[in-house]
Amino acid sequence: MALKDAKKLYSCPHCLKNHFKKKGYYYRRISKTYIPRYFCFDCRKHFSTRTLSKTYRQKRPDLNRQVYNYLTSGVTLRRTTQMLGCSYQTVYKKYLWLSQLAKNYHSTQEFQIKELQFDEMESIEHTKLKPLTIALAVSDDYKVLGVNVGTIPAKGHLSAISIRKYGPRENQSSLVVTELLKNLKVRPQGLDFIIKSDSKFEYKRIAQQVFPLKKHLIHIARVQKDKKREMKYLKSEKIIFDPIFALNQRMAKFRDHIKRLTRRSWCTTKKRENLENHIYLYMADNNGYSII
Ligand SMILES: [Zn+2]
Repeated sequence: MALKDAKKLYSCPHCLKNHFKKKGYYYRRISKTYIPRYFCFDCRKHFSTRTLSKTYRQKRPDLNRQVYNYLTSGVTLRRTTQMLGCSYQTVYKKYLWLSQLAKNYHSTQEFQIKELQFDEMESIEHTKLKPLTIALAVSDDYKVLGVNVGTIPAKGHLSAISIRKYGPRENQSSLVVTELLKNLKVRPQGLDFIIKSDSKFEYKRIAQQVFPLKKHLIHIARVQKDKKREMKYLKSEKIIFDPIFALNQRMAKFRDHIKRLTRRSWCTTKKRENLENHIYLYMADNNGYSII
């Protein structure tokens, strides 16, 4: 094993020169092997065949795939810990690491799309007195194009309690939607690029501001008060379709596969940034990114 590893190394990973010597071993517990270490004469740093590995310094790289699968299948972090029989910190660190990989992969992607759908969904951080908004953009072929999380004030009878307990809460709804649309890496296919959303007044203004109106058709769905979801009637009243079906369908999948977004659940987001991390992780699964 040691010899095989040594053969793979042609240069120092730090300075890319090949003036180095062998210097001892270290024991890798997971593979039960000794990995040879090297010393570079040029930059005077130590390295091994594991230095440039994706799973460098990980003690349980064998659990990566399982943690990824559980967290994108509606299992909580703590339940994953229990099922894998490892510590919470192991799962938590892997969760952060995997979501960072997903984020990096997503930032290199550019999407060729015919239709863009965007809307917001709601969640909470720690308590219902602190609601969050999740701005989401989806293409008509069910690819999640981007996500952005921000705070919104509590509604209804919780509003007064929230202000008394936690102070005024900023409404970042328009801000997150504007940022989301500005940061999208999309290349419209053809001139008939359609942007769709629901009938919220602000959306049309934001869409017109971010995308020039002359080139693109902006379609805002009509809301019918007696219907639970936004529906649009075609010529005959029998045919009903949802103009932003791809988006609503992905949102429903989010609620099912990301445990912290499930309604009527014990599981909540404790840190706002982790909600975004988890969505990026699910996005990797949804869009088919090969992150591990
Ligand atoms: Zn070197």
